[in-house]
Amino acid sequence: MASRILGIDLGTTNSCVAVIDDRGTVTVLASPEGERTTPSVVAWPAAGGDVLVGTPARRQAVSNAAQTVFATKRLVGRKVNNDDVALAARTAPYRIVAAANGDAWVRIGNVNRSPQEVASHVLRRLRAIAEAALGEPVTRAIVTVPAYFDEHQRQATRDAGTIAGLDVVRILNEPTAAALAYGAHRVSDRRRLIGVFDLGGGTFDISIMSVENGIFEVLATGGDSALGGEDWDRRMVERMADEIFDKTRIDLMQNPVALGRLREACEAAKKALSSERETWMRLPFLAQDQDGQPFNLERKLTRDEVEAWTAAELARVDAPCRRTLADARVTPADLEEVLLVGGMTRWPAVQATVERIFGKKPSKGANPDEVVAMGAAAYAGIVGGDDDGAALLDVTPHDIGIKVGETGFSVLIARNSMLPVRARKLFATTSADQKFVSIELYQGEHADVRKNRRLGQVTLDGLPPGPAGSIRVELNLTVDVESIMNVTARELSTGKEAGVTLRPSGGLTQREIVEIISRRREEESAAAATRPIDGGTLTRVPTRELPPIKPRGE
Ligand code: AMP
Repeated sequence: MASRILGIDLGTTNSCVAVIDDRGTVTVLASPEGERTTPSVVAWPAAGGDVLVGTPARRQAVSNAAQTVFATKRLVGRKVNNDDVALAARTAPYRIVAAANGDAWVRIGNVNRSPQEVASHVLRRLRAIAEAALGEPVTRAIVTVPAYFDEHQRQATRDAGTIAGLDVVRILNEPTAAALAYGAHRVSDRRRLIGVFDLGGGTFDISIMSVENGIFEVLATGGDSALGGEDWDRRMVERMADEIFDKTRIDLMQNPVALGRLREACEAAKKALSSERETWMRLPFLAQDQDGQPFNLERKLTRDEVEAWTAAELARVDAPCRRTLADARVTPADLEEVLLVGGMTRWPAVQATVERIFGKKPSKGANPDEVVAMGAAAYAGIVGGDDDGAALLDVTPHDIGIKVGETGFSVLIARNSMLPVRARKLFATTSADQKFVSIELYQGEHADVRKNRRLGQVTLDGLPPGPAGSIRVELNLTVDVESIMNVTARELSTGKEAGVTLRPSGGLTQREIVEIISRRREEESAAAATRPIDGGTLTRVPTRELPPIKPRGE
């Protein structure tokens, strides 16, 4: 029997794993310690030894700030010069560096590590939790990503799975998973339109979906891949650090340990303030002043204050909601309900904003932290053939097109096109006896192609000779139901289709993936060699042969 397929929500802040059983019941799998979600935090202990993942990593974050990484989902598949990466780098206690290809990586000690490698540790931990809970090995998973993730970010997520020894059988949009979890237990014959408002730790997604006879159709998706609860925390940290500097001249921004403690306290205060109107922040011995005297933070914080500090963050959900409604050609009144997903939707001002935009009280169904993993597990049931025909129709999150001239962008597939989708375009040579044509593909919404994301390039060479304009090349672009892109260019008179290459401009190469796996094995055996014999408190992920690595693009 093929192994079970896990449903994994690989979150910015927390991750969660669920499975579906033979009777179609979805269960969230808890760790041996009883935790139903795992913090997406990975730490390399300063003294060496095993990599820590989840709560043990979070617990030692304050004393090992520079080697404890969190919220790296924001770096996945991104360039270091990206604005959002620069923003993250400003307050992250760990170092964000540029890989040789410009991708944003993290520097731990003297090793540069990709966000894929960091994510693979979280995936391995979830896999170990699942194997312990199920009592059987698991090698396959469905992993969710924000609907807004582009092809590079999706591929990077697959690579993280490969490094973790998991075959990622599908990448599923988070809001789609959430709708599936809600819809799975409320089948109706009527067509229902629903909105999924997902504000998590690092990303914001809004999706408009239609559900009918067990068929889920994404009508439109939008959002902001750089907005989430971390921004609320960051704003609070900045305000508090400014206030402390004004009063004491102590610059906490230069003190990673203090900053880590302050960040934790701010997040805790935010959570408390989502049910209370005021709370106390108490951080004894947070830092030392110029005279070496200890500085103790003791301050009352109110929900009103935090709301005022974060008004700009809250305002950023408005435009994506309105644009997505317009893309789906529906009005708020057409929606039967709006589902809340993501821990940050517990914040009262967020709920009030959703109600204002959509004109109705949002539904708070299942636990907003678990609903995505549960939907992914439900989808595993569909993929694995356990379900009686529920189907998913997904859409492209961005316009896909080609570069024309120096800066122009010609859209071939409009965003929110239903998948699978195909586009064709004919090109003619522009000079006599032209030897080759080269077509550059981009995705994004800007008319200026330089502001969009380059996907790759298709080059068809060996063209037959002929006057300018006489040789015609047909470009064929398909995006399959899993958002995987295939591009071919064909010269029409000869039918020649050779010489086609699609070069992604970032991400990990196969060689880098293999290097990470071997390095991890070396590090593990080094850690095992130095571990005391009775070190029974360290949980070790079972090691097993990794599945063969598929060549990219298969
Ligand atoms: P997620 O990515 O869905 O796990 O969302 C995590 C985000 O939700 C983090 O920024 C948390 O600080 C935030 N969060 C979790 N619980 C609460 C709460 N009760 N009130 C406000 N924010 C919360």
